Amino acid sequence: MFSSYPTGSKRGPPISSFFSDPSPATKKIKHVRSLQSEGASFQGQVISVLVGNEEKKFTIHADRLSASSEFFKRLLNSSSKGFLENATNEVRLPEHSPEVFELYAQFLYAGQIYSDPGKTALDKNNNSHALETNLLIDAITLADYLQDDEFHNAAIDALISQAIETNIWPVNSEWIGKALTSGSASLVKLLKDFCVFNSNAAWWTNDKMGDSHPEFWISVAKEMALLLDGAGRPPMKWVPTNCNYHRHKAGVRCVSPALAVIESTSYFDDLQYWVG
Ligand SMILES: [Zn+2]
Repeated sequence: MFSSYPTGSKRGPPISSFFSDPSPATKKIKHVRSLQSEGASFQGQVISVLVGNEEKKFTIHADRLSASSEFFKRLLNSSSKGFLENATNEVRLPEHSPEVFELYAQFLYAGQIYSDPGKTALDKNNNSHALETNLLIDAITLADYLQDDEFHNAAIDALISQAIETNIWPVNSEWIGKALTSGSASLVKLLKDFCVFNSNAAWWTNDKMGDSHPEFWISVAKEMALLLDGAGRPPMKWVPTNCNYHRHKAGVRCVSPALAVIESTSYFDDLQYWVG
């Protein structure tokens, strides 16, 4: 009866096609079975996190927050619980945006960052790339504020992945300034390393470089001078080792370092820089 399946029917494709010629729809089928111990628990006390000036409310399980964030662990385990206002189990984070905390809440339960890499790669010349970059830098800032190493590492990986995918590194004046004020040493190191290994002579004739964040560019120049003392800058294009920009408890690096996957062969030929 499958062979008589009518064209254009709303009932879907014949069952044979699921095996012989997977359509995009069948490729999206995920594994639905995993160890229960690896899943999120939805039992226990919940905390209301009020984020931003508008105090957007997120309701999160206390054990999720404590397990992932040293900030929340201290807060929720402290005997005084001074930050929990009026015994209503509320925590306020006025300095951070709800959009970024939404990423964090999703990460707590799903273990991944819901970024949109395909979209930003396609739209790298319009505003969505900038918005995504800002969001990921804000995520790193939030991760460091909350002392959440796993979220920090995931956000660093996402930012590196986006930069490689779009061939655009966030090293214009605005983003360097944003990184410097983020308080995230590893984010600044990532951008600095990119500049050490990729800047060319034309960058250093740009007056804007000296006018904005001179301390950053002086530190880049110092590291370039150190390279000259040795064998000079390697001839190969620089590829970041993600783990160098992670936070690791007790210095233990990732078991499987989330090395940036260079899928785009054009990366080496078509690297673009935003400076100025
Ligand atoms: Zn690592």
